[in-house]
Amino acid sequence: MPRAGRRNALNKRPLFYDLTPEDLTQRMLTWGEPAYRGRQLWRGVYRQLAGGPEAITNLPHNLQHRLSEAFSFCSMKVKTTVRSTDNNTQKVLLGLTDGQSIEVVLMRYERRRTVCISTQVGCALGCVFCATGQMGFVRDLTAGEIVEQVIYFARKLARNGERLTNIVVMGMGEPFLNYQATIQAIDTLNNPDGFNFGARRFTISTIGLTPMIERFTQERRQVNLAVSLHAATDELRQQLLPINRRYPLESLIPACRNYVEQTGRRITFEWALIHQVNDGLDQAEALADLIQGLNCHINIIPLNPTNGYAGETTPQQQVKTFYHYLTGRKIHCTIRMRRGISINAGCGQLVTERKADTKPSIV
Ligand code: SAH
Ligand code: SF4
Repeated sequence: MPRAGRRNALNKRPLFYDLTPEDLTQRMLTWGEPAYRGRQLWRGVYRQLAGGPEAITNLPHNLQHRLSEAFSFCSMKVKTTVRSTDNNTQKVLLGLTDGQSIEVVLMRYERRRTVCISTQVGCALGCVFCATGQMGFVRDLTAGEIVEQVIYFARKLARNGERLTNIVVMGMGEPFLNYQATIQAIDTLNNPDGFNFGARRFTISTIGLTPMIERFTQERRQVNLAVSLHAATDELRQQLLPINRRYPLESLIPACRNYVEQTGRRITFEWALIHQVNDGLDQAEALADLIQGLNCHINIIPLNPTNGYAGETTPQQQVKTFYHYLTGRKIHCTIRMRRGISINAGCGQLVTERKADTKPSIV
């Protein structure tokens, strides 16, 4: 077969990370292999972080070969890596088999090693300040493509003797619009026979799709939930987040309260501070009233400016005023530093930037 043809054929191989443990066992049985071979492979890939079957030495040669022919163990190509000046934030643009790209970010902070992963290429929800929203929706990622982002950074860290401590589903896309794949990816990474990443160390961030929050509540997972609030009145929230028209605060907040009641877990609200838009004490007061008595934490994140939105970051003094008002009302909150700002680590910013290089009209 000519080289290019062979590469295409190889690209079409199913992605290993899309398999559940049951799928893998089933495949072994169909191939006439004992089920424990599947467990050896699973452990080799997810525990030893082997790059492929050839590196898993307890597998027989012929099975290694068969697996390499049957599955792809690497579907993503690094297109760009950017590092913050202090090297504590790294962002990669990963090219997918269909030519699309996604972003994954690794943040080092004290002992934490947090990876921020994407669930979709683009996003349909069009929040005005979000670079991913500005590019529109392209497609859902598969569970395997979500898993592979984590494995990419886990391997990179392992080479330095380091390990991931947290996984946040806060990259490109709305995870609750790609629910099944997101949850399958979390289950794969959580599996104790493999990557064994504790459920409590995952956080899913959603824009606040009420029915999906209800579904997530019913599933009673240990995974943390964060809701992007950004405004405490419908009038302002729907200007920033169009989805608020469909799920206004009177539907969203009761769903969040119910989540906390049913699961006994704290919920996080995210608030990107935009100068003279949602950083005034009127919004802080409305927020404090809205979440009164709710076991929650507010993450205050000064806006990462994007090409497609004129809003600016709140000056530091006003960030503090907003923060002090909330703490004065006995609300737990943290000001999150924009660690990625020097490398445009805001959600979707690298992809839109590259597009802007070639097609300035897109942003
Ligand atoms: N779709 C999900 C998860 C991805 S966005 C969600 O919206 O929650 C992750 C977080 O980044 C969200 O809180 C989102 O509102 C925030 N965000 C997006 N663009 C931003 C920007 N330019 N500056 C600061 N935060 C931003
Ligand atoms: Fe989509 Fe989240 Fe960006 Fe809104 S903030 S456009 S939901 S990725």
